[in-house]
Amino acid sequence: MRIGAHVDPASPLEEATARGADAVQFFLTDPQGYKTPKPRDDAEALRASEVDVYIHAPYIVNVASPNNRIRIPSRKLLMAHARAAAELGAKGLIVHGGHVGKDADLAAGFENWRKAFEYAEKDGGLPLPVLIENTAGGDNACARRFDDLARLWDAVGSFGAGFCLDTCHAFAGGEDLVGIVDRVKAITGRIDLVHANDSKGGFDSGQDRHDNLGNGKIDPDLIVAAIRAAGAPAVVETPGGTEGQTADIALLRERTGR
Ligand SMILES: [Zn+2]
Repeated sequence: MRIGAHVDPASPLEEATARGADAVQFFLTDPQGYKTPKPRDDAEALRASEVDVYIHAPYIVNVASPNNRIRIPSRKLLMAHARAAAELGAKGLIVHGGHVGKDADLAAGFENWRKAFEYAEKDGGLPLPVLIENTAGGDNACARRFDDLARLWDAVGSFGAGFCLDTCHAFAGGEDLVGIVDRVKAITGRIDLVHANDSKGGFDSGQDRHDNLGNGKIDPDLIVAAIRAAGAPAVVETPGGTEGQTADIALLRERTGR
C-alpha cells in the first residue's frame, strides 16, 4: 500500500524523494487548458521507477456535458491523456465526474459518460484504467451525491471504470465519511485510489478547497480509516509544498502503519 502526493510536473520523481512518497500524481498539461500532452523526456525513468505514477486529467474535461463544444473535445482530450499516461507506465488516469449544468437533466450526463467509454472502445480502447473521481460541487454533478454515483455506475460500470475517492470532496459534497468506503464499494465494487485531503469548507458546503490533514474540518482519523478500509494507495493533494505534504504523508504513514 502506497502513499504519495500530487506534485509539480517538472520533476515528479525528485518531488517524490523530497516527500518520502512512494506514489506521485501530476498533470501532463495546464489543467485549465485543452492542450494535448507532449512526450516527456523522463518517460523511461518514470516507467522504470519504483514510484507509482498517477496522472490527473485536466479539470476542464467534462465528458458529461450536454454541450457538444465541451463534450466532444473532452472525450478526445481524455483519450489523448490516457495514451500519454500509459506511455509513462501510469497506474491510472484520474478524471472528475463532471456535471451537466443548471437546468439540464442529469440522465443526459450519465448517458454521455456511457458514450465516452463507447467512443474510447471504438478508438482503440483505453490503455490504462480511468478512475472517476467524486466531486465537491458542480451544477448537477454526476459524482457528488452517491445516489447519483449509483446511476453513473449503471452507465459506466460494465466498461471497467475505476473509482477515486476524494475525502475532501466527499465531505464538502455532503457524504458522511463514517462508513464511506462500504457505501462506495456497494456502488462501484472498487476503490482504486484515495485522495487523502482535509477540507477548508464545511460539510455539504460544495466547496472544493483542500487543506493539510488535521488543519481543516475533517477528523484525520476518518481519512485514515477510509484509506485502511479502501485498501488502496493514497495521494495527498494538499497545500504547503514539500513541507506541508511531507507532514501529511508522515501522518498517514504513522496512523495507517504503512
Ligand atoms: Zn482529488
